[in-house]
Amino acid sequence: MSDMRDKYEVVIGLEVHVQLTTKTKIFCGCSTQFGNQPNSQTCPVCLGLPGALPVLNRQVVENAIKAGLATNCQISPRSIFARKNYFYPDLPKGYQISQFELPICEHGHLDIESDHRGAQKIGITRIHMEEDAGKLLHSDDVGAGSRVDLNRACTPLLEVVSEPDMRSSDEAIAYLKKLHQIVMYLGICDGNLEEGSFRCDANVSVRPWGQEEFGTRAELKNINSFRFIKEAIEYEIDRQIELVEDGGTVVQETRLFDSNTGLTRSMRGKEEAHDYRYFPDPDLVPLIISDEWVSDVRDGLPELPEAKKARFIKQYSLPERDTEILTAERALAEYFDACAQLHKDAKACANWVMGDVQRRRNDEGLSVADIPVTPELLVGILKRIDDKTISGKIAKTVFDEMWTTGKDADTVIDEKGLKQVTDTGAIEKMVDDVIAANPAQAQEFSEGKDKLLGFFVGQIMKASKGKANPGMVNELLRKKLRGE
Ligand SMILES: [Zn+2]
Repeated sequence: MSDMRDKYEVVIGLEVHVQLTTKTKIFCGCSTQFGNQPNSQTCPVCLGLPGALPVLNRQVVENAIKAGLATNCQISPRSIFARKNYFYPDLPKGYQISQFELPICEHGHLDIESDHRGAQKIGITRIHMEEDAGKLLHSDDVGAGSRVDLNRACTPLLEVVSEPDMRSSDEAIAYLKKLHQIVMYLGICDGNLEEGSFRCDANVSVRPWGQEEFGTRAELKNINSFRFIKEAIEYEIDRQIELVEDGGTVVQETRLFDSNTGLTRSMRGKEEAHDYRYFPDPDLVPLIISDEWVSDVRDGLPELPEAKKARFIKQYSLPERDTEILTAERALAEYFDACAQLHKDAKACANWVMGDVQRRRNDEGLSVADIPVTPELLVGILKRIDDKTISGKIAKTVFDEMWTTGKDADTVIDEKGLKQVTDTGAIEKMVDDVIAANPAQAQEFSEGKDKLLGFFVGQIMKASKGKANPGMVNELLRKKLRGE
C-alpha cells in the first residue's frame, strides 16, 4: 500500500460543528442543558409551531465573533440568516435556520504543526451560526416505533469550514486539536466529542501527483473521537487509491465510519444527497455588527494558547516542549502560572505539574478545578525541598498525603515525622553502622570499586526511611570508606 500511496496526493477539508455552551438556545429562551427528560426544554419557537418568531441570542453572536477573532477571520459587518429547507422528522419546521450567503466570519486560518509537513497554514473559509435539529430515539421493540426529542432543537452551533488545505490525516488531526483547544480556551464549547459537542465531517479525496483538479471526494460523517477520525481518513485514503488503481472511479457520497471494524461504508450517494434550497429567513433581520462591538469582544478575549506558550518561554525560560504540555488546557496553564507566580523556580513548578500533579489527576480522571493540591499547597512542598527540610524523594510521599488529606506540607511533614535528618552526628552513626555491617563491601570499595557507593547510600536511606540528607550521606560515606 505504501508504494501506491506515493503516487497520490491526499486532499482533506474539514467541517466542524461546535456546540456552544450558552445557557439558552439560539432563537428562544429554552435551556440547553444536556440529558434532561425528552421535550422538557421546548417552546413554540423550537417546536416550530406556526406563528412563533425566532429572536437571536446575543451571546451566540459574541461567541461567534470570539471564534472568528481567535482563528484570524474577518468579522462581517453585515450577515444574514437563511432557511435551509429539508424534510426530516426531527426538524418540525421543515427547515433549519443557518447562514449561507454572508456568514458572520470569513477568510481565517490556523497555523498547525505536524510530522507530515511541519508548519502549515490551514485556511478557514467561513464560520457560520446555525441551530441544531432534534434527536430521534429509536426502539428495537416491535411496535414501539421511534420517538423524537426536541430538547436539542434550536441549540446553537458554529460550523467551522476549512479550505481543502490538509494533505494527511496527521494534518487533519493537528488542525482539529488546535481548533478544539481554541474553543475550549474561549470557553464557548465544552469540547465533549462523545456527547457531540465538537463533531467533525471530513471531506477526503486523492489525486495523482501533479494533477491540478481535485479528485472526487467522499464525505465522512460525525466521527466522535480524534483517534476514530484518523482511522476513518486513513481507511478512506486506502480505499480510494485501491479503487482508482483497479481502474474504478470514486463516487461522490457520504460515508459512515464503523469504529468496531475500522471501515467506512456508504450512507448515501450523490443522487440521494440533499439538494438544499436556501432562502433568506424573512423572520430575522440582517445582523449588523459594529466595529465597536468587535473591538469590545477582542478586548475581552483570554490569552490564547500560542501567546501563552510564548510568554511561558520568555517569562519562565521553560523549554518549548514543557510549554506545549502546560498550555494544552487553559485551566492547567493557569494552575502552572499560579505556581510559578508563587515560587521562583518555575522549572521545578513545571516538573511537578507535568509529573505528579498530572499523574494523579489522570489516574483519578479529575478536571483541573478538582485538583485537591492547590498551587499554594504545591509550592509549600517546593519550599521545604529548597530549605532541605525534606528530600525530593520524601516530597513525593508528602505530595500523595496532601492529595488525599488536603493538609499542607508542614502539617504532613510534622504528623508523619518526615523531616530530613541533617544532624551530622546522627548521620555519622548510621554510616558507621552500615559500614560495620558490610565489611566485605567496605574492603572492595577501598580497593577501588567505586560503584559500591550506591549500595551504601541505599542501605543508609533504607535505615533512615529515606530521611537522611542524601548530600551529607554521600560526603560522610566517602570520608569514612576512604579512611579520610
Ligand atoms: Zn424554545
